[in-house]
Amino acid sequence: MGVSPFKAAIDAVLAPLEFAARSDFAHFDRVRALGETVSAACARAAELAIPKDARDLLAHVGKQFATVADDEMTPAKVAAALERLRPLAAPDWAEAALARSPVALPGVGPNREAKLAKRGVATITDLLFRLPIRYDDRRSLTKVAELTVGLRATFVATVLVSGFSAQRRQGRGRRGRTFEAVVSDETGTVRLKWFFGTDAIASMAKKNARLLVTGEVKRYRFDKELVHPEIESLPEPADRGREAGASGPRPAPTLDQIVPEYSSPEGLHPRALRRLIESAMRQYADLVGGHLPDNLVRTQKLPEPADALRELHAPTPESDVEALAAGTSRAFVRLVLEELYLLELGLGLRRARRGREPGIAITDAGSRTRAAIAGLPFELTRAQRGAWEEISADLVCPHPMSRLLEGDVGCGKTVVAFLAAIAVAAAGHQSAIMAPTELLAEQHARTLRHLVATSGTEPELRTALLTASIPKAEADAIRLAIAAGEIDLAIGTHALLQESVEFHSLALVVIDEQHRFGVRQRAALAEKSRDSASPHTLVMTATPIPRTLALTLHGDLDLSVIDELPPGRRPTRTLLVREGEGARVSEALRETVERGEQVYVVYPLVEDSEKIDLRSASESAARIRSAFPDYRIDLVHGQVDAAARSEAMARFARGETQVLVSTTVIEVGVDVPNATLMIVEHAERFGLAQLHQLRGRVGRGGHQGTCICVARGVTEDSEARLHALLSTTDGFEIAEADLKIRGPGEFLGTRQSGRLPDLRIADLTRDVKQIAVARAAAQQTLVQDPKLQRSKELADAVRARWGDRLALVGVG
Ligand code: ADP
Ligand code: MG
Repeated sequence: MGVSPFKAAIDAVLAPLEFAARSDFAHFDRVRALGETVSAACARAAELAIPKDARDLLAHVGKQFATVADDEMTPAKVAAALERLRPLAAPDWAEAALARSPVALPGVGPNREAKLAKRGVATITDLLFRLPIRYDDRRSLTKVAELTVGLRATFVATVLVSGFSAQRRQGRGRRGRTFEAVVSDETGTVRLKWFFGTDAIASMAKKNARLLVTGEVKRYRFDKELVHPEIESLPEPADRGREAGASGPRPAPTLDQIVPEYSSPEGLHPRALRRLIESAMRQYADLVGGHLPDNLVRTQKLPEPADALRELHAPTPESDVEALAAGTSRAFVRLVLEELYLLELGLGLRRARRGREPGIAITDAGSRTRAAIAGLPFELTRAQRGAWEEISADLVCPHPMSRLLEGDVGCGKTVVAFLAAIAVAAAGHQSAIMAPTELLAEQHARTLRHLVATSGTEPELRTALLTASIPKAEADAIRLAIAAGEIDLAIGTHALLQESVEFHSLALVVIDEQHRFGVRQRAALAEKSRDSASPHTLVMTATPIPRTLALTLHGDLDLSVIDELPPGRRPTRTLLVREGEGARVSEALRETVERGEQVYVVYPLVEDSEKIDLRSASESAARIRSAFPDYRIDLVHGQVDAAARSEAMARFARGETQVLVSTTVIEVGVDVPNATLMIVEHAERFGLAQLHQLRGRVGRGGHQGTCICVARGVTEDSEARLHALLSTTDGFEIAEADLKIRGPGEFLGTRQSGRLPDLRIADLTRDVKQIAVARAAAQQTLVQDPKLQRSKELADAVRARWGDRLALVGVG
């Protein structure tokens, strides 16, 4: 990119000062007219369109130097000026300054400035990067006769009559001044109306004026009309021509144009916003620099960022509107890649830093894990073996593992975690597994103890369950055993995070279902380890998301994927039943129980209304009891104490009860092979991933599983979720659909936590392809310069853009 006028002007100020200061002021007494030269250069620089900070500083220094004669000039004065001005020459100074500069543009007073700031337009950067939401293609004009109600259109017409119509506005009791114009072309006439800002309109829409009109066509009684259309004056037909406007001071709009449309914050007229953006563009766009590696810019044929901004904000008649609108134009891609490249660099740097932290190398565990695998009651699937290889390779390293294990419900993640715990125990250290609910922790304990028993590992893995509802005396004993290193694997909930829990030598933390776990909780657990070495972390999730997206969202986690189910699993059949079709549900329940299989009935758990859920779940249990007096039915919910709950779960697991009615406390991880029917009440209240998890609970024992979703009143979103649920059984597709419906922030439950860095332009859902490009580029950059020590400018840019936020991401 060429040197911007701003850079050139700053250099002109700095050069004489640097000259005077060369060789430690050795030649200072030979310098002449420095005051004059510097103040003149400052004045010239301050005339440019530059960020306010710079203008103020230059004015200040200029004034100081203007009055200093040669015999009063001292090295101290020069040094002080240099110290203040040198930062302005730094490559990213201008950009950083724009991000600080208030919207001090012509026509924006302090009041307006404050108003804009309140609406998210606080700085010049906010304006420059507020990209159009769509484009009005005014190159194709409509005829008045062809105007269609409900569609936006652009047409040229001449004003037949216009004027204010004084009407009493409804309810306000004050006379509003509506301005109306009836315009026509050779095919017909149409009415235009404005309710405010009418003075400016009135001066444009005079009788016989030719206007370019753009707006949405509405129906008014039997006529068509446009309310608050945008209008532009056109030259009289006689002197019309493409060149007509080119020379004049205020170019008349040509007919061929593509006009950007912005979503303007409330209280700011779209036209006013457009003007502001135009003005910011004219003055400052060239200060926006880029950071992408040259070869990427070349191979992707990307424009410079300043040109990209121009293309997006002020397309030319030659622009490809469709590409602009779809976000696939080179200009748009440039800005997206700029943003993602810095993000990926930041994530890469963090990951590298983490990779250098001291960890606990788990060595000499091979024979014990091999024995455990051989002792399992089943063969590991190919995908499980792959994941285990990746994990064991991490464990051997003297740096902490941070790995995400993704895999659909029932793919067998627990076994993999079990093997990791065996390895850690073999090396003389401890592991902890945390589950989001007590029930799940209890089940994990059962599953893991079962694995310990069946795989016959020697010496046996010593496990302990620690949850809030374990009686105090027992819990105290467990805590002591953990601290003494007599427990190899602690299983629990948040209770594991209590201050009083101390590990003898914690080397592995496994977190099941990470989306339920806060960032801080993970960090807390990591701190439980002895010494300064962080434990290895394995996060397991049944909500898989596309690989590149996962790597970006989870920043510094490595990723292992289990993408197949153990053999013999048949996907659950999913049915959607609407309110009033209760008979179908009862019938399915009866058939299932008659076949000797078991049924879950699940109610949503709405936070803060446990009582309501309890009531609906209890009522449902009572209803089923009266409809099927012979069936054994249990009720489980959050208010049943842990002992009673696990007793009920155990009865269901042993097949003593046939129907288990519950709130979503059983949501994830429950494993009863003979359960084949899942009835989800108020399915519309569940998230897509949750529903998918729930249906994964049935049909695990080789029988066909069925999930009946009962929808009682749906919204557009819940309809979309249910539709997605019915259309695929693939967890990855489900996750992608969920992502589209909810957006990445909400999807991961990270909206508030700040883990998802907020992006200005890129959209992690839409721009998945660009994430991959940016990531590859960032990786290449970091291979050549791992700490960006040779690219200070780039390092500064990453820090400036993502510094604080990546610190938040970091705990990941
Ligand atoms: P999830 O990934 O949902 O946590 P689990 O680890 O709970 O899945 O495993 C689900 C069920 O599949 C368990 O009953 C487990 O014993 C069984 N399982 C796991 N791996 C295999 C395998 N390779 N072959 C057969 N069954 C398996
Ligand atoms: Mg699980």
